[in-house]
Amino acid sequence: MTSIPTFTLNNAVDMPALGFGVYQTPPEETRAAVETALETGYRHIDTAAVYGNERGVGEAIRRSGLPRDDVFIETKVWITDYGYDTTLHAFEKAVGKLGVDTIDLLILHQALPGEFDRTIAAYKALERLYTDGKVRAIGVSNFMPNHLDQLLAETEVVPAVNQIEVHPYFRQSDVLDIDGQLGILNQAWSPIGGITFYRDGSHGSTLQDPVIGEIATAQGKSPAQVMLRWHLQQGRQVIPKSVTPSRIAENFDVFDFELTDEQLAAIDALDTGTRGGPEPEDITRDKYGIEIPEA
Ligand code: NDP
Repeated sequence: MTSIPTFTLNNAVDMPALGFGVYQTPPEETRAAVETALETGYRHIDTAAVYGNERGVGEAIRRSGLPRDDVFIETKVWITDYGYDTTLHAFEKAVGKLGVDTIDLLILHQALPGEFDRTIAAYKALERLYTDGKVRAIGVSNFMPNHLDQLLAETEVVPAVNQIEVHPYFRQSDVLDIDGQLGILNQAWSPIGGITFYRDGSHGSTLQDPVIGEIATAQGKSPAQVMLRWHLQQGRQVIPKSVTPSRIAENFDVFDFELTDEQLAAIDALDTGTRGGPEPEDITRDKYGIEIPEA
């Protein structure tokens, strides 16, 4: 079985370079998808409280028979659980559903720009969990440079990762650069551009892109594999999602080829500057206030 290269986080914890995403994987399908991923060789699962499928992730890990330490578990605290005590309790909800004692990487799912004090309090709770050894690393998601500035001004632990939308049609170079300068690992969500086709398809499917298609043909690989390789060679951690066994295997089979500098540059040039996900500045509890159930 292929062993997965790792990235070393800014606190010296190693994380697999490629993980498995479960956003929009229905709770009843999650166990099977994650079991397939673990059988394939994936050793990192990215879930979130708001995906409603942490329980299925935990079940799959237990049924795999793998030692707990062999699987890197990442989950996210949702905005309705921000606040110091509430976020500490969100950790209890997450470990209760996952059926584990510790989480490898716990991150804030979004900044709450209009209530940044609440975001800071939530992050301080993550710092506490980190100091207490309940989580091995902490981080953020969808944080823009101004959010990182505010966070770093008021907290102690530099986030280990920033999980943001990155695919060939939306590269967010400014955020990538600032994360890099701060020692924060870039983690790409929608790495093969899922958000470009599973929403309304208005900015086209990266999977059908002729430039990516040509590179895929030249490399004897698929468009998805080419996109994953583009991220990995540029130092980004990736978490492709699939519920389809053949695609789960395909997305893992990306360690036996190299894109050339010209191919990397040709993919960089596809950036449209158009975000597929919600504008990070517009996230409010009013708009996105889903309640997270108890474990
Ligand atoms: P992806 O870029 O991973 O694309 C997923 C989509 O692509 C699914 O529709 C899947 O279909 C399809 N697919 C997967 N593999 C292939 C393949 N080889 N060929 C063709 N189609 C394929 O998008 P996601 O948005 O799911 O992002 C990945 C992960 O990132 C999420 O699951 C989640 O963990 C995280 N994420 C985080 C966000 C955040 O705000 N922090 C936001 C969004 C995602 P099927 O499953 O039917 O096979």
